[in-house]
Amino acid sequence: MIKTDIIIIGAGPVGLFAVFEAGLLKLKCHLIDSLPQPGGQCSEIYPKKPIYDIPGFPSVLAGELVDNLMEQAAPFKPGFTLGEAATDIEKQEDGSFIVTTIKGTKHHAPIVMIAGGLGVFEPRKPPISNITDYEDKGVEYIIKDPEFYRGKRCVIAGGGDSALDWSIFLAEKKIASEVSLVHRSSSFRGHLDSVQKVFDLAEKGIIRLITESEVVGIEGNGKVESLTVKHQKEGEQSVETDHFIPLFGLKPSLGPIANWGLEIEKNAIKVDTRDYSTNIPGIYAIGDVNTYEGKLKLILCGFHEGTIALQSAFARIHPEKKNILKYTTVNGVQGF
Ligand SMILES: Cc1cc2nc3c(=O)[nH]c(=O)nc-3n(C[C@H](O)[C@H](O)[C@H](O)COP(=O)(O)OP(=O)(O)OC[C@H]3O[C@@H](n4cnc5c(N)ncnc54)[C@H](O)[C@@H]3O)c2cc1C
Repeated sequence: MIKTDIIIIGAGPVGLFAVFEAGLLKLKCHLIDSLPQPGGQCSEIYPKKPIYDIPGFPSVLAGELVDNLMEQAAPFKPGFTLGEAATDIEKQEDGSFIVTTIKGTKHHAPIVMIAGGLGVFEPRKPPISNITDYEDKGVEYIIKDPEFYRGKRCVIAGGGDSALDWSIFLAEKKIASEVSLVHRSSSFRGHLDSVQKVFDLAEKGIIRLITESEVVGIEGNGKVESLTVKHQKEGEQSVETDHFIPLFGLKPSLGPIANWGLEIEKNAIKVDTRDYSTNIPGIYAIGDVNTYEGKLKLILCGFHEGTIALQSAFARIHPEKKNILKYTTVNGVQGF
């Protein structure tokens, strides 16, 4: 049994910063994440993309932000259970909780802070019968490291920002040797700038744009070698490629947390904005996983929510103590 002051479910940016804020209050944290690495969406979906709205950082790569958050949390020695989804929660007689993972690892704490973001990641997959045979053999649903595609032929499918941005990035920076973008419509849902850029690059022959079409088949001996692309009117063509990257977004799914008796609205956990507490005393929800009037799913909002929630958690753990806010400039960071 792992014992701590606060169990944080989700080691995304919001969960990681909560470790720091908890540390300032002398509270120890243990994080659980179903992914094998910390960083949530920043590490899993867009580690090499720059973020421009983190206060004090005019631009920071998502992966770098995660590295910095890990460094900031390090003095408070957080524990990690990675690669294991939290599946069960049991309230104890004294009001504390035991959280158990899919592999049976048990964690005990008086406070549970859910920072589960979009929940358990599930990419939307195109309905191609043999697609699972080629996963990680040329089919990827997320671009983690663009360098992986250096010198390779890539077919990206989708009509949103991810599909547009990655097509532009891989083609313009001459990372992939060939970039084709397949989309079932002739109009795109992404930002107008990106749409225009894709059309410009297509005109210059830098991106091959295949619209009003869908990938309907994958062929190859043990790995992707070609795709069957079906045009709405003109029939099928074969496109040779090394990679097929359908970027149709992620299915938001709270996963097991949805069955914990928490008040849920639109696939998110309802919270009281005074302290981001849920309907179950002792359980808080911060970051993308929560909802309230005016909610913005932004990293900086999650940082704020965690900071406020931890003040409330401190009062629950130490009802006898009065916490006086101390500036880090005055007190410094006293690690454990
Ligand atoms: C392409 C893209 C670009 C973006 N750009 C920006 C931007 O410029 N600025 C900005 O502020 N925001 C941006 N965002 C949004 C930002 O990434 C999110 O707001 C942020 O990641 C939320 O952090 P989080 O810690 O709440 O959740 P997440 O990052 O989603 O992390 C949640 C973690 O919880 C884990 N988890 C969930 N359920 C369980 C469970 N039951 N057991 C164990 N682990 C669990 C997940 O595996 C995940 O690692 C962008 C998002 C995307 C997809």
